[in-house]
Amino acid sequence: MLKIYNTLHHKKEEFIPLNPKEATCYCCGPTVYNYAHIGNLRTYIFEDLLMRTLRYSLPVKHMMNITDVGHLTSDADAGEDKMALASVREGKSAWEIAKFYEKKFFEDFDSLNCHRPNITARATEHIPAMINLVKTLEEKGYTYKTSDGIYYDTSKFADYGILINKAHLEGLKTGARVDFGEKRNATDFALWKFSPTDKKRQMEWSSPWGVGFPGWHIECSAMAMQYLGETLDIHCGGIDHVAIHHTNEIAQAQAATGKQYVRYWIHGEFLVMSAGKMSKSAGTFVTLDTLKEKGYSPLDYRYLCLGAHYRTQLEFSYDSLDFARKSRQGLKAKIANIKECAKEITQETSILKESKNNFVSAMEDDLNTAKALSLLWDFIKSEASVDEKLQFVKFADTFLGLNLLEEEKKEISIEAKKLLEERAEARKQKDFKKSDELRAKLLAMGIVVKDTPRGQEY
Ligand code: AMP
Ligand code: ZN
Repeated sequence: MLKIYNTLHHKKEEFIPLNPKEATCYCCGPTVYNYAHIGNLRTYIFEDLLMRTLRYSLPVKHMMNITDVGHLTSDADAGEDKMALASVREGKSAWEIAKFYEKKFFEDFDSLNCHRPNITARATEHIPAMINLVKTLEEKGYTYKTSDGIYYDTSKFADYGILINKAHLEGLKTGARVDFGEKRNATDFALWKFSPTDKKRQMEWSSPWGVGFPGWHIECSAMAMQYLGETLDIHCGGIDHVAIHHTNEIAQAQAATGKQYVRYWIHGEFLVMSAGKMSKSAGTFVTLDTLKEKGYSPLDYRYLCLGAHYRTQLEFSYDSLDFARKSRQGLKAKIANIKECAKEITQETSILKESKNNFVSAMEDDLNTAKALSLLWDFIKSEASVDEKLQFVKFADTFLGLNLLEEEKKEISIEAKKLLEERAEARKQKDFKKSDELRAKLLAMGIVVKDTPRGQEY
């Protein structure tokens, strides 16, 4: 039985799904205006670990959205749409930007061995559901109009801010009081934004209130309820979403349906850089490609994340990534030896049973991945037989997702990849002098190139 920290009640609770046959879980997806940074990716790794652990006991309908419109530069509805800004930055259409970064996001997601969600929904393809939700809120008297959009009146929702403590809520109300323009309350937020009258936006739709685009918060609530029903078991995201995005989602959904929107709110803590905040919009961030260029495997990063609890801040450094890489490689080397001499066994010996139970208990104790990892190490070093060890590794890896039994592909840097491509081209052109020079350069990087009838191999 999974015990998980529920932000709604500020404590660990037993997870009991509404439907014992299938749990529902919505995870806030990426805003596809730039590369995901390794901080964002930490959150998706934590969510993947949660899905894998839940799925040990029951099927889960896992949904994730793609925010491809409406997320403004400030989560509290100020500034410009991040997609429109990226369009100017890169000289491409907002649609091209979204397509490019969504594809890139899933490449990272896959290489980190995160299981794809059962449902992925793009905001731009669900505008009617968002308009309908705003209409319901309007009919129930929760909205008002300003010169730039339709807003939600947070003073009308008695439970506003239940995810955060009173002092934090007061801070939000007074902190933003400096200038909140035509809004009635500092915490009010846009449900629908009007397009400017003097220019056409790239992403805009007609609505009963005029041409415009949806607010970011309404996107998640409308899509989540469309696919998962009015009450979800779980809603996840990074810790930054608690105070505004998820607080506003509760206000919208519960005002519209009169029902509890989410039963378990689960949040992952941030990855921080020693130099300060990792920010996608400020451009100060490290991507998975940065790590790959330096020769790390994405799974080194996954291993690093597994070593820290998802609810504690993790400070990123290359020293800790080096340590994670060394540990993961050590683990894989030990497992490769076990694999060589072990045979498949089907019977559950008592030591296997007990060790698997302890492993599951660690994972089900609010995802204690560090303990689970150390139990795996202990078992590998133990007196158990190699056959038992092989079974245990297989079992543990369904939770950890480290591809422990797969042969390690040598991760080569992007620079080395370019040299290999250049060398293949030089050989095609029969420029053997150049090809030899490139072979020497690659050798200096630790890559031994052989020419075979199948082409060059390394
Ligand atoms: P975004 O693409 O900005 O909408 O964010 C995608 C996910 O990453 C959200 O769940 C955020 O809460 C999360 N996130 C943003 N920054 C960090 C960080 N530094 N560490 C961990 N998660 C983050
Ligand atoms: Zn969201």
